[in-house]
Amino acid sequence: MKNQPKTGSCQCGAVRFELHADPVDVYCCHCLECRKQSASAFGISMPLPAAAFNLLQGTPKKWSRPTNSGGEIDCYFCGTCGSRLWHENSKRPDIRIIKGGALDEGVSLENADHIWTCRTLPGLPVASFARTHDRGKDMAADRETDVDQDK
Ligand SMILES: [Zn+2]
Ligand SMILES: [Zn+2]
Repeated sequence: MKNQPKTGSCQCGAVRFELHADPVDVYCCHCLECRKQSASAFGISMPLPAAAFNLLQGTPKKWSRPTNSGGEIDCYFCGTCGSRLWHENSKRPDIRIIKGGALDEGVSLENADHIWTCRTLPGLPVASFARTHDRGKDMAADRETDVDQDK
């Protein structure tokens, strides 16, 4: 089972995808964009090579927004149930940023970087061992993300 691809879907199951590689990083981003995007406390972003991403079923809808650095982020979601599934940055077309909550198997956040923790909601516990970054992490900003778009 070790080489079984990871699978994910929207909440209603109309859109399904699989990953043929493990994501290179896991970010929990507490910025306002990610809070809105997830309609929750923070967004989970997991970048991986675009070639390792395979859409299995369904046709997601796309919403695009500009980034502060002059690029554009394409946000893919299910048009039926609304679940956000993955992002693509026009400046990094070789990367897909998977939204972690969409994966069928729960994602481990043990090694996640928590970014924009200056925006963390009051009362939200972040493990004491977690790597935290008050604002965006440079590496993350290069790769995508939602982190350069805090407002
Ligand atoms: Zn759906
Ligand atoms: Zn964010």
